[in-house]
Amino acid sequence: MAYRAWLECVRGCGRTYPVDTVVYQCEDCGGLLDVEHDMEQLKRRSPAAWMRLFYERLRTNEWPYGSGVWGKKELVAPWVDNESVVSMYEGHTNLFWAERLGQQLGVPDLWVKLCGNSHTGSFKDLGMTVLVSSVKQMIAAGAPIRAVACASTGDTSAALAAYGAAAGIPTVVLLPRDKVSTGQLVQPIANGAVVLSLDTDFDGCMAIVQRLTKDKSIYLANSMNPLRMEGQKTVGIEMVQQFDWEVPDYVIIPVGNLGNVSAIGKGFLMMRELGLISKLPRLICAQAERANPLYLSYLTGFREFRPVQAQRTLASAIQIGNPVSYERAVKVLREFDGAVEQATEQELAEAAAQADRTGMYTCPHTGVALAVLFKLVERGEIHSDDRVVVVSTAQGLKFTDFKVGYHQNTLSGVESRFANRPIELEASYDAVMHALDRVLAQGGERAR
Ligand SMILES: *Cc1c(COP(=O)(O)O)cnc(C)c1O
Ligand SMILES: [Zn+2]
Repeated sequence: MAYRAWLECVRGCGRTYPVDTVVYQCEDCGGLLDVEHDMEQLKRRSPAAWMRLFYERLRTNEWPYGSGVWGKKELVAPWVDNESVVSMYEGHTNLFWAERLGQQLGVPDLWVKLCGNSHTGSFKDLGMTVLVSSVKQMIAAGAPIRAVACASTGDTSAALAAYGAAAGIPTVVLLPRDKVSTGQLVQPIANGAVVLSLDTDFDGCMAIVQRLTKDKSIYLANSMNPLRMEGQKTVGIEMVQQFDWEVPDYVIIPVGNLGNVSAIGKGFLMMRELGLISKLPRLICAQAERANPLYLSYLTGFREFRPVQAQRTLASAIQIGNPVSYERAVKVLREFDGAVEQATEQELAEAAAQADRTGMYTCPHTGVALAVLFKLVERGEIHSDDRVVVVSTAQGLKFTDFKVGYHQNTLSGVESRFANRPIELEASYDAVMHALDRVLAQGGERAR
């Protein structure tokens, strides 16, 4: 059965477009667009039948349903033919029970959704598989698209370059010079993208790519493009499926351009409409204090919004002062009784290090979300019996400079209370045994 979907203005002006139109904003009122699905048609399948279908497809080899995104194809991108799908079998990421960290905090039901355990090491793969598949289908149908382009704080460009290369579609990425990690920079280079390193910040790159893509032969891959939302929506659906269709009390998300929180919210709303769940979690947005326009707007009850000049932060993927999806995110936060909190450099670095001591390997953005969790627990807003999911957005291995800097105590503005330095010794049994006796007598955890 062909499920229907189309693009519709988020401001409710009523303007719609076919889903394969090259358009990113409503031509009547300038609002962003969202993919809308024919919910009446989707509701003809019962909640139990949807659940059964999603279980049957878990990690199946039947193309493309083994992907966490394409296993939910009917709710995500029913217009894409299976032959057009460009997938790395993204999704199905571990929902890690953070047992030791939860015990330390007094919140034993603490979980971390490890979205960075993916092909290019961040949740951006989830949206990019939908966007690139859709573009591949549009090109096959004769659309005159020469390349796909994005501005990026690092992870979007990595995902676009990989999926584009897999599809044989040229990609162009605009990166703010010296503001992405080495690990992130080398990814699009290796995948053969046209890499443009510009003397500006993310917001500057975003402004340029929006102008570039007014030329419809250069297709825009930023999350302003609603197709990305559809894939990222599965983060919430997947975590609920992992809890056997129980909804957590809190979901904490590190946010920058505000696409991901909008997408996750959309996934929950869709599940509720289909009868898969009956309540919604509270969504908490976590921002770096040095790039906090949403937090400042939250303090005004979202009545006012002013872009800020984002300052340099260790959480470089969310160093954004003028978030494109502000409008979408505020709509979602109102519906989810959402809140926004911020974290300093010290707080995010320390939260990441503390989590690592319990077996994780957190990126700085996940550090922001964890630091916000610590604050909400301390303030008594999150209780010991709440079920909490922290969305970990990227793989820590992309942020080696952050980790090394922390453990060498060289990060500016950060005091590394959890630093763990290698012990340099002569190669002698006695020296090693002596050192071990000393260290293990302190419980193995030297630096505090
Ligand atoms: C993109 C990104 C975010 C922020 O997501 P938005 O949709 O821009 O709010 C957070 N963390 C990481 C690691 C990212 O790459
Ligand atoms: Zn409109």
